[in-house]
Amino acid sequence: MTCAKCGRPVSSDEAGLTRKLINRGATEFYCFDCLGEMFHASREKLEDMILAFREAGCTLFL
Ligand SMILES: [Zn+2]
Repeated sequence: MTCAKCGRPVSSDEAGLTRKLINRGATEFYCFDCLGEMFHASREKLEDMILAFREAGCTLFL
C-alpha cells in the first residue's frame, strides 16, 4: 500500500486516517504529509486525531 500522491509506503494508521477524513470506502491512501497538505493540518495534529479516534473505539484504528 503506497501513498496515491507521493508513492511513499502508507502505514495502517495513515490508511485508517485516509478512510476517516476522505471516505470510509477509500481505495487510494495517503501518507501523513500528503493528508496534512490536503487538510491543512500538521503531522502532530493528524497523530492527535488518530489517538482521539482510537480512544473513541473507532474500528479503523485498532
Ligand atoms: Zn504522500
